[in-house]
Amino acid sequence: MGKTKEFRVINRRFQFKCPYCGGRRNFFINNLRRKNIKCFKCGESTRCLFNRRTDKRVFQSGKILLTTKAGKELEVNLKDLSYNGAGVEIPAGVYPTSTVSGPGSFLEM
Ligand SMILES: [Zn+2]
Repeated sequence: MGKTKEFRVINRRFQFKCPYCGGRRNFFINNLRRKNIKCFKCGESTRCLFNRRTDKRVFQSGKILLTTKAGKELEVNLKDLSYNGAGVEIPAGVYPTSTVSGPGSFLEM
């Protein structure tokens, strides 16, 4: 049996690093949780476990105040926090459409 190693997957890509010889190679994977990869260099196989935890969102609730470029303040509902951002919900109909075009739209800050 080969070694087991955990890799972090970012945007369906991970960099395989062989625990035997240190050889590296980039792979693309879809929804796999584990895969045996045979080293292209030394031929040893490694059981790879894929970790996507950095992509997971942490659900939060609360209200936050955003300030737009124009200096307007918007109170929005905080929905979740993720690795590279935060998700918010803007109450429909509360703010003029010239400021916010709708749910799911981007705000220019
Ligand atoms: Zn190797």
